[in-house]
Amino acid sequence: DPIKWLKENSNDKHAVTKGFLSRLQHGRPRAALISLVRNAELPGMIQSIRQMEEKWNAKYLYPWIFFNDEPFSDEFKTETQNATAAKCFYAVIPKEHWSLPEWIDEDRFINGLEYLGTIGVGKGWLVSYHHMCRWNSGFFYKHPILKDYDWYWRVEPDVHYFCKMSYDPFRFMRDNNLKYGFNMNILDDARSFPSLGPHTAAFMKTSPHLVHPNADLTWLVDTNTSDYNNCQFFSNFEIGSLNFWRSPQHQAYFDYLDQAGGFYYERWGDAPVHTLSIGMFVPKAEIWFFRDLGYQHDVNMHCPPNREVACDCQKTRLDENFYKLVPLQSPQRKPDDTCIRQFLGGK
Ligand code: GDP
Ligand code: MN
Repeated sequence: DPIKWLKENSNDKHAVTKGFLSRLQHGRPRAALISLVRNAELPGMIQSIRQMEEKWNAKYLYPWIFFNDEPFSDEFKTETQNATAAKCFYAVIPKEHWSLPEWIDEDRFINGLEYLGTIGVGKGWLVSYHHMCRWNSGFFYKHPILKDYDWYWRVEPDVHYFCKMSYDPFRFMRDNNLKYGFNMNILDDARSFPSLGPHTAAFMKTSPHLVHPNADLTWLVDTNTSDYNNCQFFSNFEIGSLNFWRSPQHQAYFDYLDQAGGFYYERWGDAPVHTLSIGMFVPKAEIWFFRDLGYQHDVNMHCPPNREVACDCQKTRLDENFYKLVPLQSPQRKPDDTCIRQFLGGK
């Protein structure tokens, strides 16, 4: 119990009063900050924790849960726990959630890695990258350590949070019946996942009853070709419902994709997979754009133009543009706000 832990472990450095604890406890969503991270990424993780704590979590003290495909080092555990007054948990991913399924043709997988290396798209030549995308698509929410949680905020090492937050986004999600919250919506290099759109279309054909009656997929479809337009929530930032991912709809979709093998033969990322799943199974009214949270992952940054809170980032171009993408090496990754506009319906 993270609250009980706080009571027992609060010290001078992280003074926690009784009144504060009872306010925290009252009607609190069962939520956690979750992070998949390697031991070697400790410095980047500390930087993300510090900013998250400073901008927001020091007032809310949601627990942190770290995931790794191998055991965390003592150094990692000590230093991360020292960076927050909230309770930290450390989980190792079961082998069967992080290995090649037996139906995958290894030669075809190796050929795919070579191709992805040749075109140089987003770490697609690393075997571990494929396990990571698959785990984020179909396994993270099944880890036993999350069984008593309903909500998660995904945090990566080395990201930045720029704005002071004066409310609890977990309560906000719950109280407004939201399922998924995002911060950026981008175009990735579609050469690395050419058959994801067709496989998703095939899934919808075989399982039309699973698609939500109020699903609005128009913003995900290219009006000229009727194919998937490649818009995707940039999933290294996510505030979402674990129970959505645990739903039979998402499970059926994930299993279908997993059997098709594209997590290995291509570079099906958790970003487009999450986006398509949310698009099919969640009405748009239950998806939230956290435009008030300044955030940066590598060269991609969102800095709110209209702010009610203090942000340590330069406002991006006023009013119209919601965020700025610095052009990446990849020619098909567009440095503009096409997807967010499409999602918002031209507003
Ligand atoms: P990118 O955001 O697509 O460039 O991918 P990243 O390299 O940032 O990986 C996404 C997240 O997964 C980050 O939080 C990484 O720390 C984590 N990650 C990626 N590969 C591994 C891995 O092999 N082991 C562990 N433990 N974490 C990983
Ligand atoms: Mn990353």
